[in-house]
Amino acid sequence: MNEYLKKVLNETKIKNQYEPDFIQAVDEFLRTIEPVIDEHPEYENIALLERLVEPERLISFRVPYVNDEGKTIVHRGYRVQFSSLIGPYKGGLRFHPSVNQNIIKFLGFEQIFKNALTGLPIGGGKGGSDFDPKGKSDNEVMRFCQSFMTELQRYIGADVDVPAGDIGVGAREIGYLFGQYKRIKNSYEGGVITGKGLSYGGSLARTEATGYGLIYFMKEMLNANGLELKGKNITISGSGNVAIYACQKAQEYGANVIAMSDSNGCIYDKNGISLDIIKQIKEVERGRISEYVKRKSGAEYIKTEGSDSPIWEIKTDIALPCATQNEISLNSAKKLAANGVLAVGEGANMPCTEEATEYFLKNNILVAPAKAANAGGVAISAVEMSQNSMRYYLSFDEVDQKLHNIMCNIFNSCKNASEHYNLGNNYVAGANIASFIKIAEAMKCQGIV
Ligand code: NDP
Repeated sequence: MNEYLKKVLNETKIKNQYEPDFIQAVDEFLRTIEPVIDEHPEYENIALLERLVEPERLISFRVPYVNDEGKTIVHRGYRVQFSSLIGPYKGGLRFHPSVNQNIIKFLGFEQIFKNALTGLPIGGGKGGSDFDPKGKSDNEVMRFCQSFMTELQRYIGADVDVPAGDIGVGAREIGYLFGQYKRIKNSYEGGVITGKGLSYGGSLARTEATGYGLIYFMKEMLNANGLELKGKNITISGSGNVAIYACQKAQEYGANVIAMSDSNGCIYDKNGISLDIIKQIKEVERGRISEYVKRKSGAEYIKTEGSDSPIWEIKTDIALPCATQNEISLNSAKKLAANGVLAVGEGANMPCTEEATEYFLKNNILVAPAKAANAGGVAISAVEMSQNSMRYYLSFDEVDQKLHNIMCNIFNSCKNASEHYNLGNNYVAGANIASFIKIAEAMKCQGIV
């Protein structure tokens, strides 16, 4: 690592010492952009990297609500407005007990580069709360969302900051959030939030976009390396929005999805997962994945004991982590490699630890990095914003075609960047470099801000 990069990384570690995931995201990023920094010594004079790792604004706020027992509960809400260089801040809201400033900052930092890769005019942001919608009644979720939005509305707007969903924030939560925003503003501003329901301004194919996009990227990556998706065994962690639609598209392409999971354990179904059963359990009943084995003969349930998910011990050709950050440890990476995994596609944000990613790359296992591979969701969110502005809706096929083109373009940007700097098929570096070049250029043009 050159001296400038070392200095910025050290300062980041000191200033953010209680934020390990944020440091991890910055560390992984800085390590891979060295060849570009070597070409641009002038960046140091304008403190380009120091400004890049410091959010433009970080907001934290109180979110009280009354639960069904009449008790007042207080949560903490966040919004990080990281970068508005190339468009309004854009990034999802996460409702999960693990949410804190560290998690929101790492997600917001990643979002800057992901959004730049889409080629669309969207900056980087992220938000959320330590509220857990799991096990709450619809009324409790509604009251929480209304309280959250009553504060968040001060900071967002169609040209300012446009939130969407993430873990724990799906169609139900987006509906309640949008309803409260509209009530407060007394104006229909469709483009203020994305992932909206189809009945009130959402885009067709937004629900499917992240999962489908992951598979489009994976297919391009495999083909570029002389491999095929058809006939491959795939394991997918998680059973939420990203996991379900990745499974659907992989099956459409003739791959065999043999395992999925949730935070309690995984199911292994060597004959191929029945996605209708998963959708019924997860999207309709909001239940646990262990239910699956009661409804499908020949399937096994393996409970998670300890910190590593058992799903990574199952022999597979392709692993798609689609649950959460750091879910593939070095230990899990070694197990996947020993079982002959060919490729890993990151549907979740930063699902591989730095050590796991390094291990895969050293062992010639292809890695589709999150910033690139899961960018389909935010790309179609931007397409939803365009439709809201045009007051005109595209068909499912039109949106899906756009998604496919965007994912192919993103893959090509990663491939071209890695080849240009002689990094072979290291698309992790390729994604970071391609997006950094765009962001750095915009920073240079806009002066010291
Ligand atoms: P959902 O809430 O729909 O689903 C999350 C899934 O992951 C659930 O099956 C959940 O299991 C599991 N999970 C969550 N936290 C943990 C944990 N700590 N340990 C083990 N399993 C866990 O979220 P999404 O599908 O929307 O998001 C999944 C990932 O994809 C996240 O990293 C998100 O940032 C990323 N992503 C999402 C996009 C989108 O458009 N939705 C866009 C780009 C990235 P359980 O129900 O048991 O908690």
